[in-house]
Amino acid sequence: MKYKAYSLSNYLTIPQVEKLPGEIKQNIKVVGNVLPFKVNNYVLDELIDWDNFENDPIYNLTFPQKNMLLPHHYKKMEAALERTTDKKELKEVSNSIRVQLNPHPAGQADKNVPMIDGQQLWGLQHKYREIVLFFPSAGQTCHSYCTFCFRWPQFVGMNDMKFMMRESELLVRYLEEHQEVTDVLFTGGDPMIMNCRVFKRYMKPILDNLEKTNLQTIRIGTKALSYWPYKFLTDSDADEYLELFEEIVSRGINLAFMAHFSHPVELETDAVKKAIRRLRDTGVQIRTQSPLLRHINNDADVWADMWRKQVNLNCIPYYMFVVRDTGAQHHFAVTLSEAWEIWQKAYQQVSGVCRTVRGPSMSCTPGKIQVLGVSEVNNEEVFTLRFLQGRDPDWVGRPFYAKYDENAIWIDDLEPAFSDRFFFQEEEMEELLVAEE
Ligand SMILES: *Cc1c(COP(=O)(O)O)cnc(C)c1O
Ligand code: SF4
Repeated sequence: MKYKAYSLSNYLTIPQVEKLPGEIKQNIKVVGNVLPFKVNNYVLDELIDWDNFENDPIYNLTFPQKNMLLPHHYKKMEAALERTTDKKELKEVSNSIRVQLNPHPAGQADKNVPMIDGQQLWGLQHKYREIVLFFPSAGQTCHSYCTFCFRWPQFVGMNDMKFMMRESELLVRYLEEHQEVTDVLFTGGDPMIMNCRVFKRYMKPILDNLEKTNLQTIRIGTKALSYWPYKFLTDSDADEYLELFEEIVSRGINLAFMAHFSHPVELETDAVKKAIRRLRDTGVQIRTQSPLLRHINNDADVWADMWRKQVNLNCIPYYMFVVRDTGAQHHFAVTLSEAWEIWQKAYQQVSGVCRTVRGPSMSCTPGKIQVLGVSEVNNEEVFTLRFLQGRDPDWVGRPFYAKYDENAIWIDDLEPAFSDRFFFQEEEMEELLVAEE
């Protein structure tokens, strides 16, 4: 299969889009001028049901929707597009809206960037003790873009916001100096956009120096299985990739795909099934994750179906996330209370082999916080929460409580119950005081 991508510059030539009402095309154009838009022929032809496109999960996952922008932002962009075709002027308007959409959630820009020899390593993020995120510069785009993506600033040319690294030598040095790190996660964008030859250039220094590091697991965060399974079937470098994966596994490394699947439809084509089988045959492990998204998968049966299909295909359900506080959060968000209900109804109807999944989980500044449920303590309704990952490893696994709030969609909306601060906030305060001394 030959890859063909569409974006704002040529979306009107998509055969299925040509037939859509003018108003829908206008929405794509206006919203697509602020948030990223890219889609390919596999997604268009195999995943979207065009007879019911407005309710179609994958259409909603890939095509800009009017309500992804707040009404005043939409109007501002639309007016600018009517007023001018001047690229510079349009970009100024786009950027003035973008900066209001919290482009750097969860302290990414300032808190997680590690140092070596007094130099900041902009292509790495090190937030949790055991795992470092690596952003290879050649992997900072995707086979299609997800409308909800929290990495959206990287895709719209806000270059000063781009995390990336041109080579992995500094990563290796960092790993040597940080023996507590057992995992590296290649991320982006989608690292599986890279040609294998390029990917090998990043991987080689790591493999050549394995003994000097404490690396156990190499993870690859990717949506290629969902958006372009031919990467592992018919692309010119498919076999080369499979050989490389086999070699990595043979070195005793746990090679794990952190595969993004947001809907069971993505697991149903012959191409994705074959690609998963080929990958699994190399010894690659596939773990799956997605946020819970209104208009796409806010339904317990959809999640239960998805987890079962994943397990049947030999994948391991891993995370259900809460939509992050950036970009089009207001459009996709589900309240924490609804998220937990959907989670619980889905979790209850699958067997233990699917219950490797954890969630609903918020990736926020202090860590990954799981909503364990709604409880009643001392006649007070509360959320019971815990850290799945913490900036301080000692926070992980300790239950804590927040006042129940049926409208809350994020940790910032919650107030502590039975205390005036969350326990991690006390420790953060202490850290600040120490820092000031
Ligand atoms: C989620 C995440 C990880 C990986 O956490 P695991 O729970 O080990 O999968 C690592 N770094 C950051 C910044 C993350 O958000
Ligand atoms: S594939 Fe991943 S990085 Fe790319 S747009 Fe989707 S969620 Fe974002």
